[in-house]
Amino acid sequence: MLFGRNRKNPIAIADKKVVDWTYATCGYCSTGCAIEVGKNSEGKVVASRGVGGADVNRGKLCLKGMYEHELFEATGRGDTPLLRSHIRQDFQPAQWDTALDHMASEIKRIQQAYGRDAFAVVSTGQILTEEFYTLGKLTRGLIGTNNYDGNTTLCMASAVSGYKRSFGSDGPPGCYGDFEHTHCLLAWGSNLPEQHPIIYWRLKEAMEKRKFPLIVVDPRVTMLAQFADIHLPVRPGTDLVLQNALMHVILEEGLEDKDYIEANTSGIEELRAEVAKWDPTTAYKVCGIDEDTIRNVARLYAKAPSAMHIWTMGINQSTHGSDGVVGINNLSLLTGNIGKPGGTALSITGQCNAMGTREWSSCSGLPGYRALENPDHREEIGKFWNVDPGFFPTKRGLFQTDIFPAIETGQIKGMWLVATNPITSMPNTARIRKTLEKLEFLVVQDAYVDMETTQYAHLYLPAAVWAEKEGTFTNTERRVNMVRKVTAPRGDSKSDLDIFNLLAKRFDPGQKVQFPETPAGVFDEMRELSRGRAMDISGMDHDLIEQARGIQWPYTESQRNSDDPPPVGGVRLYTQPGSFHHPDGRAKLIALPFIDNNERPDEQYPFWLNSGRLVEHFHTRTRTGKVGNNNKFSPIPFMEINPDAAATLGIRHQEYVRCVSRRGDAIVMAMLTQRVPRDMVFIPFHFFDCVNRLTLGLLDPHSRQPAFKQSAVRIETIVDQIGAARISRERRTY
Ligand code: SF4
Repeated sequence: MLFGRNRKNPIAIADKKVVDWTYATCGYCSTGCAIEVGKNSEGKVVASRGVGGADVNRGKLCLKGMYEHELFEATGRGDTPLLRSHIRQDFQPAQWDTALDHMASEIKRIQQAYGRDAFAVVSTGQILTEEFYTLGKLTRGLIGTNNYDGNTTLCMASAVSGYKRSFGSDGPPGCYGDFEHTHCLLAWGSNLPEQHPIIYWRLKEAMEKRKFPLIVVDPRVTMLAQFADIHLPVRPGTDLVLQNALMHVILEEGLEDKDYIEANTSGIEELRAEVAKWDPTTAYKVCGIDEDTIRNVARLYAKAPSAMHIWTMGINQSTHGSDGVVGINNLSLLTGNIGKPGGTALSITGQCNAMGTREWSSCSGLPGYRALENPDHREEIGKFWNVDPGFFPTKRGLFQTDIFPAIETGQIKGMWLVATNPITSMPNTARIRKTLEKLEFLVVQDAYVDMETTQYAHLYLPAAVWAEKEGTFTNTERRVNMVRKVTAPRGDSKSDLDIFNLLAKRFDPGQKVQFPETPAGVFDEMRELSRGRAMDISGMDHDLIEQARGIQWPYTESQRNSDDPPPVGGVRLYTQPGSFHHPDGRAKLIALPFIDNNERPDEQYPFWLNSGRLVEHFHTRTRTGKVGNNNKFSPIPFMEINPDAAATLGIRHQEYVRCVSRRGDAIVMAMLTQRVPRDMVFIPFHFFDCVNRLTLGLLDPHSRQPAFKQSAVRIETIVDQIGAARISRERRTY
């Protein structure tokens, strides 16, 4: 017999003959898993493995991390700059000097003709922190456009905005270790097992050791909802009503932490007056969660000795995204659940270095959480960079989602995209296509030349990918961790840092402003600028970070001098009264009236359209679409539809259907499942020319983040199934 009694372990794992392992941090999601990448004796990258001594992942990796080493050999990489020929309109290879001279002269031409802000820069959450800092210095200090933002506006802007409104500063106050202390966890619009599998493993392990209730708020029966003790299938876009109702019960029944509120917050009376309107019976009619359940959850949460929230895009990607975050913070503050073990409001970030861009890119202000609106901050950075502070704008410019409409209206004429793919990731992509066609000059800087937005570029710059370069990422729990260089950049591609530095020389030939050439040199500047700031990293350096397998900020120089190794850093924020960042040292309790402003299903478009991620893929599949062991498990776009709804429409499992909104249509394979209610369909957001042909993307008024998850669609059957399959295949072709 093949699998006899003595064959305990029939699966043999091939020996990759690794002779050299290099330390890095995973370059996909914000969990921040420590990873080692192995090379064989020929110097070929052949394996990835989790790092056992790293606190974040404790030796584990998810499907994406396990095959991350395959990225270096994946297809579609760019290895030389490409310049669009004026005569033939096709791309021609160019030398770096030619490409960057042309780029600098086009930026200057546009700025001279139309004003400094007519050239926009949109970056990412994917490059290294040292690169973000350098791009910010170049954009704010030399190019001088104020229309500069990151694609993190599509995922984390509401969390940033909500933290700032409640606590006076960005920065998640808790950590993964809180799972090991909490007595109750509320997860809002967060499907951890698929989106952040290693954080889910940490949570699951904590729940197995010390049983505590898991309450999941999500309109869809996600994988996390299936494991929940209580699932609240809230009506899309109404989380705020549920939050107000929970607070109503807590205050009505006297379950709030009066001492904590008194010592740490302001605004309780305004909040009390607003939530008084949202008794559970009234709330039920709007959010769909019945009165008894609201009361039970409010009591369970408020009576727990410590309780925490996590959330992801289900809260952030909404017209009430920022308010939803403030609502979570309100609940935490009312019950004294901030800054104590197991009591926190932890936003689970999306991209590997979304935190790095928030801290250091200067997108929304100046580096180190400084504000353009603050004259002292302008003065301080101007002096440090050797730039006239009067060169800086006095308030932030447009968000990414407002930059595209400004191209439509002719306010912006040129754009530089760094590691972002708006033709797939932005809502209403038909509109984005037309917008990109209007640009006089578009530069796309990306590791992948086959990234869909490249087809609209006038200049393409090939960038190195992930561990072809060196520097740091900051993860969801504020942990700064190292990526060491595993291998050289492909072909003639360059690290983003080198590209920024080379361009800087074209704007400042006398080199009045210094741009360190090495990542360690850049980190030294950041360290100096961080002293005394919320995100103080003055005690860190690259070697210590690697040695400690990541350090949470703040970690000051005096902590370093007094600590025994290993360094720990700031496990939690706001542990002391008066430590919030508003001028009075208090957190704000903010009243949140609910305004229902989403597109809603109607007779013509009777289904809610929901979108989200799959475990196999990351963002727009520029990477995972080319890694066999990711792509083969999820190769095509599909649509989850409830079997009862499908039966009414005459749709069978795995048939192709046409999904139609007021913006456009998409051909997708129908997957019949009870994960979605009868009035909802769900389509993953990773695929080109798919769900974002349909989305409306109304914007949150505070964060300008789009409501990707609340649009209305109808479903049409397709007679010609072979033709539909062909159209679907063509649409996902790179
Ligand atoms: Fe990478 Fe995130 Fe997976 Fe960890 S959970 S291996 S950081 S993709």
